Amino acid sequence: MNYQKIFSNIYSNLKNESDTGQVADYIPELSYVNPNQFGVHLATIDKQGFAFGDAEKRFSIQSIGKVFSFVMAYARVKSDIWKRMDLEPAGTPFNSLVQLEYDQGIPRNPFINAGAIVVCDILISELQSPKEEILSFIHSLSENNDIQYNPQVANSEKQTGFRNYALVNLMKSFGNIKNDIESVMNLYFDICSIEMSCRELSETFLFLANHGVVPHSGERILSPSRTKRTNALMQTCGFYDEAGQFAYKVGLPGKSGVGGGIVAILPERYAIAVWSPRLNRKGNSHKGMLFLEEFTTQTKLSIF
Ligand code: GLN
Repeated sequence: MNYQKIFSNIYSNLKNESDTGQVADYIPELSYVNPNQFGVHLATIDKQGFAFGDAEKRFSIQSIGKVFSFVMAYARVKSDIWKRMDLEPAGTPFNSLVQLEYDQGIPRNPFINAGAIVVCDILISELQSPKEEILSFIHSLSENNDIQYNPQVANSEKQTGFRNYALVNLMKSFGNIKNDIESVMNLYFDICSIEMSCRELSETFLFLANHGVVPHSGERILSPSRTKRTNALMQTCGFYDEAGQFAYKVGLPGKSGVGGGIVAILPERYAIAVWSPRLNRKGNSHKGMLFLEEFTTQTKLSIF
């Protein structure tokens, strides 16, 4: 399939879309990004790559990082992870506090902020040096050792992360945070601050399209069954209170971040990453969603 041609066709229609989105500015450091950038990269499990626009430009992956930390925790503690969080769509914004009180400190799923914060708590208990080990996990998945945290972004979020601190304190009061709050939140903000390009993200997510095995190295990251389940979680919980819309319009498991990135996978075929910094009101990339909707429509490839 000529993905390259499809990309430029879709983009030339999308260019004229009057973009209603807004760059995330609740994290001050993210507001400095040039909002008009746009990149996409598709990597296939048989090692082909198709790029368009700013596909090599690194951006803040934000909540896309929640997939890496979840996979690391899930591979270690296996189904015990479900003693600490649920696996149901939240239907509320990513940083909502409401449900957490009703559910006595048990987050609805690992891809909302509360769930990802518990995942960080688990990794601190499980790993010797979580910050270094998470980065080397990403380095080995991507075969790229210069992917880094951005300390300015992490620090900017830490200074303004009042809702995230509210979430962690509420969960601590219910006994669902075992380590000290500062170390858990430092790790959480660090993971959100990782910077990667569309190419790096799409290549790094390929193991989820390949039954848990990294195509270029043959390394198994997750069992086929846990890979299927991780993809199911991305499908049902990867877009917060827009997960239904994404399934309906795009039809692929995926994960978004407030840096404007979206990664999605088609099992046994490809991983695709798209980046456009302006977000819709649900905190997902406005043009990224439109692009992927058109992409799965034109290619007639989705999981449905
Ligand atoms: N770092 C962001 C936060 O905690 C992540 C949110 C997101 O990307 N949806 O608010």
